[in-house]
Amino acid sequence: MKKALINIDYTYDFVADDGKLTCGKPGQAIEEEIVRLTAEFRQNGDYVVFAVDGHDEEDHFHPEHSLFPPHNINGTAGRELYGSLKDWFKQHEENPDVYWMDKTRYSAFAGTDLEMRLRERGIEELWLVGVCTDICILHTAVDAYNKGFKIVIPEDAVASFNPDGHTVALNHFRTSLGAEVR
Ligand code: ZN
Repeated sequence: MKKALINIDYTYDFVADDGKLTCGKPGQAIEEEIVRLTAEFRQNGDYVVFAVDGHDEEDHFHPEHSLFPPHNINGTAGRELYGSLKDWFKQHEENPDVYWMDKTRYSAFAGTDLEMRLRERGIEELWLVGVCTDICILHTAVDAYNKGFKIVIPEDAVASFNPDGHTVALNHFRTSLGAEVR
């Protein structure tokens, strides 16, 4: 089964101590595993996607506007990948099998061409890594489930600022989305 790795929102704002909407330590603790998996997928010739939140500063129409402080504002450093994942990306961004994709909603499928890109390549299995387990990873997983993709969640490569939400989401992946949580 052909697979792809979807890197979700592992940016400065979501991970760094002074990020605008940060997961903090739990987010920082998964850095090494995300980079390891990203490199491994590429070494095996698999497709690697970076699905990254991008918002405009004063977008009052956006549903997140009233829910969260401003984060991942387009053109700011807060939107850059965090830590050594940023270095990895810089070395591989020209590769046609490494795809940077802007998203504006929790799910990487919402308003993007992700599904077409995956179908074109015959990809059936999605590995989801990044943050937050109970928000963007969860919503992407639900869409992937509804579209019939097999889902794998490496537990050591997802994190949240909400420990309870993290645990509930991991259970939901397993029991309701049929995902392999490993
Ligand atoms: Zn957002």
